[in-house]
Amino acid sequence: MTGRCALLALALVAACATPPAEQEGVRVPAFVDHHVHVFNVGWWLRESQRTDPAYVAAGGATSEAEVVARAAAAAKAAPGGLVTGFGWSQDAWGTPMLPTSVALSAAVPDVPVAMARTDGHALWVNDAALKRAGLKTGGRGVLLERQTEPVLALVPAPSDDAIVEAWRLGAEALADRGVTRAYDAGVLALPGIAALNTDFGRYVRLLAAADDARPLPLQLFLMIPAPSPYAEEVLAMKPAARQLSPNVRITHLKLFADGALGSRGAALSHPYADDPHTTGVLRMYAPEIAEWSRRAIDAGIDVATHAIGDEAVHQVLDAYEAVLRARPDVEPTRLRIEHFSYASEVDMVRAVRLGVALSVQSNFNTPRGVSPTFAGQRVGVAGAPRVYAWDRLSQMGAVLVEGSDYFGEPGAPLLGMYYGLVGINAVGERGDSPEVRQELLRLNTAWLAPGGALQAPVDAAKAKAGFVLLSGDPLTVPAESLLTIRVPGPARQPR
Ligand SMILES: [Zn+2]
Repeated sequence: MTGRCALLALALVAACATPPAEQEGVRVPAFVDHHVHVFNVGWWLRESQRTDPAYVAAGGATSEAEVVARAAAAAKAAPGGLVTGFGWSQDAWGTPMLPTSVALSAAVPDVPVAMARTDGHALWVNDAALKRAGLKTGGRGVLLERQTEPVLALVPAPSDDAIVEAWRLGAEALADRGVTRAYDAGVLALPGIAALNTDFGRYVRLLAAADDARPLPLQLFLMIPAPSPYAEEVLAMKPAARQLSPNVRITHLKLFADGALGSRGAALSHPYADDPHTTGVLRMYAPEIAEWSRRAIDAGIDVATHAIGDEAVHQVLDAYEAVLRARPDVEPTRLRIEHFSYASEVDMVRAVRLGVALSVQSNFNTPRGVSPTFAGQRVGVAGAPRVYAWDRLSQMGAVLVEGSDYFGEPGAPLLGMYYGLVGINAVGERGDSPEVRQELLRLNTAWLAPGGALQAPVDAAKAKAGFVLLSGDPLTVPAESLLTIRVPGPARQPR
């Protein structure tokens, strides 16, 4: 959405719905993002506009040595302070192995360094950071999942103004891409890790106050990470109190069953193909997931559980199955599995039978022609066809919802649709066809409302849920051109 319309009060939204350019664009229903980290997108945009000398932008580095050199340079700007960073990946360095603390500690012996991996689930630290956090040194140097929390506690919390600025930048970036409704999957602790020792309540209250002061350009539906003190507060709220401001509403508790494939924190039922010493990190077992889910459902809140590896998916399905058995009247789509990246055949069938919602990210897929695939390296060739296989799940009858999972640089408006089409496991036997395009467009515009009702606007002309105008037709352009389609006009808010 352009700044002009973003500034208008909600009462004037109708005026924005008929821009002069309307005749020239291709009208489609407004986009929905079912899983995105709005604050962190905005923080990334904010950092990219500033040059904080003690911050390492590690994306684009092609070797461990390159990131270590950048950290050493940053440490000179932060004597006695702290160097943070975001965006490194050992895959971009051409090695399967995670880095250790050895080279980093040698290059930066005195200043603590903490740099988040690009997947938001691993923190690369030096001995000085471990020491200051009260942890043992001499370990591997990369902390996974909840191990990261003592080091993350060293990172100073941002100011109120910086938090509000990041929320708004993130919301505007999504609105500019034609998104009118988004589920926020939780604030990631700076420099960008899914941690639970964050004051989520503070971030949320600042967001709602910002929306009250000047309306956000889209509607945000918040997932609150649990266990956390704020999740307890939210459970105790009266349902009406969870509508915090005109465009901000708390709708879900967010649980984490495991980590990510990139840092081998995703919990597998077998050893990793490229590191047989590990099967990943299970953060929660079925009984704990079931207990939190029951509490949420009974309090009128929906549940979204992060599960990437097949063992994590298995635990979540065990939990959800138990909850649905104990509460047979509950709409199964009130229970979501975030990512559902890798599952056994049996669990794919079970997810469909239970009718729980599967939140998928088509843009995680490796484009066809790239070999070996990322998924193949991690889980092995036998399991690879069962990773990010949205089309297969769709044909089995799964309830799918699409999200970007952006928590850094946001991509093109139709990035998800592009990867949904060209990804290795994306479109199985069907290939690119008008039906598949139509289905992908539906996937990116359907709306799973809080409470579990799935609404699929197929006709943009009648789309009460809002619409956007695109610079090209996503149903007919060559697949590569999906990446260049823009959203020239403002999106119309759903009302
Ligand atoms: Zn996420």
